[in-house]
This record gives sequence, C-alpha cells and structure tokens, in this order.
Amino acid sequence: MTTPDMPWGTYAPGMAQLPGTQVPGTALPGTPPPGTPGLPPQLAPAAPAAPAQPTAGSAATRSGRFTPEAARRDVPVLQRPVNGRPVVWLDNGATTQKPRQVIETLAAYYATANSNIHRGAHTMAREATELYEGGRAAVAGFLGAPSPDTIVFTRGTTEAVNLVAQSWGRANLGPGDEILVSTLEHHSNIVPWQLIAKERRARVVPIPLLPDGSIDQDAYADLLSFRTQLVAISHASNVLGTVPPVKEMTALAHRYDAKVLVDGAQAVAHFPVDVQDLDSDFYVFSGHKLYAPTGIGALYAKPEVLAGMPPWQGGGNMIDQVEFGRVTYAPVPHRFEAGTGHISGVAGLRSAIDWLSSFGREAVAAYETALLAHARQALAAVPGLTVLGDAPEKIAVLTFTLAGHDPMTVARWLDQAGIAVRAGHHCAQPSLRHYGLETATRASLALYNTAEEVDQLAASLTQLQLQGAG
Ligand code: PLP
Repeated sequence: MTTPDMPWGTYAPGMAQLPGTQVPGTALPGTPPPGTPGLPPQLAPAAPAAPAQPTAGSAATRSGRFTPEAARRDVPVLQRPVNGRPVVWLDNGATTQKPRQVIETLAAYYATANSNIHRGAHTMAREATELYEGGRAAVAGFLGAPSPDTIVFTRGTTEAVNLVAQSWGRANLGPGDEILVSTLEHHSNIVPWQLIAKERRARVVPIPLLPDGSIDQDAYADLLSFRTQLVAISHASNVLGTVPPVKEMTALAHRYDAKVLVDGAQAVAHFPVDVQDLDSDFYVFSGHKLYAPTGIGALYAKPEVLAGMPPWQGGGNMIDQVEFGRVTYAPVPHRFEAGTGHISGVAGLRSAIDWLSSFGREAVAAYETALLAHARQALAAVPGLTVLGDAPEKIAVLTFTLAGHDPMTVARWLDQAGIAVRAGHHCAQPSLRHYGLETATRASLALYNTAEEVDQLAASLTQLQLQGAG
C-alpha cells in the first residue's frame, strides 16, 4: 500500500492496526467459505440472508459492556489533531468516521480482489461477484429484509429516493394524486417528489410539525385520503433528531392503500431497524453515515412492489436481451443497477455493518441515549443556548442557536478548539423555518463520542458567550 502524505502526516497501514484492538473473528469479518479460496478473509462473502438474522444478536457481537473507547480505538482519524487539539468529531450527521476494518477492507479489495462483476468467466470475476452479492445479503440481514433480492445498491439515500420517484412514481402517480411529505424531511426526501409531482400533475402535501419537532399525528390522519399514493417520512430527522412513530404512521397509510417510503439515513447507525416489522414499502439509507465509504447506499423495497417497477436508468447489467427493435430486462434487483456498481463500496459497507453489529446494536443505542441526556444537560447550562426539537423519541442530534452569535461564527469558534460541528440549513430548510430560522449549528453524536467531548463542546460555547459578554 502507498503511504500518501496528508496535511497532518502520513497514513500507513500499520497506523490503523492499533495493538490490542482487534476482536478475534470480528474486526476483519468472515472467513472464506468453501469455493472461494482466493478471497482474503476480510472480503469473504456473507452467508445468504434469507431469512434475515437480527444483527443485534450477531455471532460477531463482542462480549461485555459497550464502551466508546473500544470503538474509538478502531477509528484512526479520531487520533489526528485539528488546530493543535485532538479532533472532536461532532459532525456525524453529515458523515461518520471510518474504522480501520473498513479502511483495510477497501485496501484489501484493490490489493487482492479487484474485478468487474456479473461478467466474464474468470476466477476473480466470480470472486468479486460473490463479494458483491454477499454484501447484498449482509444489507438484507441488517435491515431485516426477507431476501437479498429486495435490496438495490445505490449511491446513497438521495439516489435511492430519486430511483423510487422516477421509477415507481412515474408509473403510479397521476393528476390529482397526493404525496404526503413530513416537514422535517431532508431536501433529498422532498425535491425528488416535487420533480415527479410536477411531471405527473400530482401534489406534494406537507405534514406539519408540533412545537417540539414531532410530526403532528392528528394533522397526518386528517391529510390521509384515497388521493394519497405515497407517504415520505424520515426514520430520524437530521436537524431535530425526531424519531417519528414510523410503524404506526405506516399502518395508517396502508389503510388508504398508500405506499410508505422511510428515509433511514440518520436512523440505521443509531438503532436497529426491521423493515418487515415496520412494514415499509421502501426503506433507504447511505453507507457513509453508517461508518462505511461514501458513494454506496441501498434501497429496500417489498418484493411485490419492486417486481412491478420499471427500470429507471439503462445500460449494462440491467438487461436480459438487447436488439434494436426490442429490449428485455434483468430480474430485480439487477434491473435497477445499470452500469458498474461501487464494488469496493459494497465490501466496505458490509465491513461497516459487521463492525457496528459487533458492539451489539441495543448496547450502542442505549449508550447514545445516555450520551444525549448528558449533552442536553451540558448544553442547558450554556447561557443563551436554545436546542431545537424536543420530541419524546430522539437520536443524539443537537441543533441549537446561541444568542448573539450567528451559526457560522459559532462553528468557526469551535473549529479553533478542534471541535467539528455543522452550521447552515442542513439541507432541511422547512425544519428550520418551522422555528423561524434559516440557519443553525448542529452537533450530531455517534457511538465513539464521549461525555468528555460533549463537555468540551459546552465549555467552548460558554467561553464564547463569556468572551462576547466581556
Ligand atoms: N436524508 C437524511 C435524513 C439525511 O440526513 C441525509 C444527509 O444528510 C440524506 C437524506 C441524504 O443523504 P446522502 O447525501 O448520503 O444521499
């Protein structure tokens, strides 16, 4: 492997292999199954996922109580300094940092296993295909999906929503139809619906929020009708942290024969998800918010829904027969994966799923809930700070305003102390406008964040306020 020079030093493979952090049989997941002798252990395909296994009880689960230190030891970038201080990464809502297991999987793929898939009769093509399809099985297991064939790989959440809008939406929406979209959605779960609604002369109808940032369930019940074709809701808001009652909202939508798309971009890293229990018609997420590489994500769709959807992009991989007068398509899910996919990304995604699952999903969720409670308390003591969103169910996302300081100034101040937060509209302008704001500052926490880091955030914000007062 090369050792590229980075602004803060040099990355070398050994740097990621911190002593004493590898959990036997879990850190580099899997062993080569019979018939794939060429694949290195970290690239071995996952076992078929039907029926899906709950990941919380994964065989790879590490024993003992979850501690953020165990997770931190695996994530090399958390050791770099920023502006002379150890980095405090509180921008996990934008993207998460990667464990060395994922980094090494990517390196191992390109060093030992690179090939295109689903074509060619040679050994490495077969191995790469098994790796890719094993990744599909792993994602199916992670989401509790009934079969790998219900999983379509995409670039991420945004592409997955666009796929559903362009394929299912174009085939199923017509004049006067309604798409109910909650006000707390990310733009990627609003704009694709606006585009297809305009084309099909359908309507996008916002579901309002209550003052605490939860979705107004009475208004939702009133808005549902037989005109409703689809309901688009986040499983967790990237600005307010709200976790809506998705299962109940889905059951209500189904009474009107409406489909439900759940945006799991901010959910999957924080708590276990079971798409069959939720009864979601569509569920979408991005790998990079789940400790996996950028450029890979997935769409789950119910088998009968996916089977009825037309292709949305044409090209290689998605066809059966091509003649100039006629074309037939590959079966699902390949029909929706035109062109060469992100093969190494799939390997990295599977590695990230194994890494996260190895801690025990329930244990991670419980830790993050405790960290959120600590953060709420710590931030409540900062003069002039107001946190947006106080829904009963909430992930560890704290978006706030600080009296007397615009959000960009706050983020720059924190950056000087090595603390990374996000400032801006967070690609969710309707959520912020619900509070009469255009921008705000956001700290979004992950399993490797600690109470000490949260205290540093609060102390630095207090210092800014005191300095302003002085
Ligand atoms: N949905 C939510 C709730 C998000 O937080 C994000 C990204 O921040 C997205 C969708 C879009 O994700 P991506 O840019 O990975 O497609």
